[in-house]
Amino acid sequence: MTLVDRFLKYVSFDTQSDESTGLTPSTPKQMIFAEYLKKELESLGLEDITLDEHGYLFATLPANINKEVPTIGFIAHMDTSPDMTGKDVTPRIVEKYDGSDIVLCAEENVVLSPSQFPELLDHKGEDLIVTNGKTLLGADDKAGIAEIVSAMVYLKEHPEIKHGKIRIGFNPDEEIGEGAHKFDVEKFGCEWGYTMDGGEVGELEFENFNAAAAKITFKGRNVHPGYAKDKMINSIYLANQFITMLPSQERPEHTTGYEGFYHLIGIQGDVEQSTVSYIIRDHDRAKFENRKKEIERLVAQMNAEYGAGTATLELRDQYYNMREKIEPVMHIIDTAFAAMEAVGVKPNVKPIRGGTDGAQLSFKGLPCPNIFAGGLNFHGRYEFVPIQNMEKAMKVIVKIAELVASK
Ligand SMILES: [Zn+2]
Repeated sequence: MTLVDRFLKYVSFDTQSDESTGLTPSTPKQMIFAEYLKKELESLGLEDITLDEHGYLFATLPANINKEVPTIGFIAHMDTSPDMTGKDVTPRIVEKYDGSDIVLCAEENVVLSPSQFPELLDHKGEDLIVTNGKTLLGADDKAGIAEIVSAMVYLKEHPEIKHGKIRIGFNPDEEIGEGAHKFDVEKFGCEWGYTMDGGEVGELEFENFNAAAAKITFKGRNVHPGYAKDKMINSIYLANQFITMLPSQERPEHTTGYEGFYHLIGIQGDVEQSTVSYIIRDHDRAKFENRKKEIERLVAQMNAEYGAGTATLELRDQYYNMREKIEPVMHIIDTAFAAMEAVGVKPNVKPIRGGTDGAQLSFKGLPCPNIFAGGLNFHGRYEFVPIQNMEKAMKVIVKIAELVASK
């Protein structure tokens, strides 16, 4: 089976996760895919294959060298985004892409066009796997799984490439932020790992947001509107006042790169009680802490103005920037860099404006930067992956294994 065959087989499984179930895996269909992968890994002759009741699938490619080499791991996630259906994915290969519009679905007029997605033009002449315009593709992250499995097959077929023990791990529920929660880092048993996930060729990520969630509840005082003068406090206006006190430029729609933000994600209210929900993000830990303090200060200000207990704050941290866990082991970034350059890929280090499983794994003791899997336009019907991107990612995995053993 080729890398492409493998990928096309994997996307035929519907593995959409669901944050409402509270289970791991969050949907039973992810387990069906995990069982399939387990059988495939067995047929390929990998060892120590385990699939636990939560859908975490681990396997080993044994070392083929008589030397102490650190055990490293490659990780990808099996689920697809809850944002778009992943059922009946019907991929199509556009060979030698010529730079024109790609009609994904004529009847619904869904067109993948370089005028909206100029990055398409970086892949002229390549072979693109696209959707039929009705589902996502699932390259996020089945491209990563196909690349890892294919790299293990390649290493088995090329015993002249010497490598240490390699572990591979496939987890459920990354898209709902829970991919690392039940990941048994000790059982995985690696000095470090790489997630193969995310976008364009060359991407290498070891910085992500620090993240917190805030919910502020405002209590009003409801009185019959005909008799409300000097008595009514409408909590909706309190919520509105709070919203306008936060800096309007520090929102996702006005920020990029290393700029953090406050993101208003929900509002619910009536006269008696209103709540606003925010997520708070910043790469810089000190600025992150200051953002949380600012929310606290504004809540206190509302209480000073309208009386104690008017506004109550629930604030909780969600995850942290993995940079602090990677910095002491920067050689793992250097190795990824060198591997990319050795296979003709230009490394492109950029901060993640979000979180990753790798960040959580890093804080659980497995330093785990992220390497591109090659897909683009994730989580929607315009998702596509150039076959050449997947081949490059596979080569990077093989080269990392080789470089780690050659040190
Ligand atoms: Zn992903």
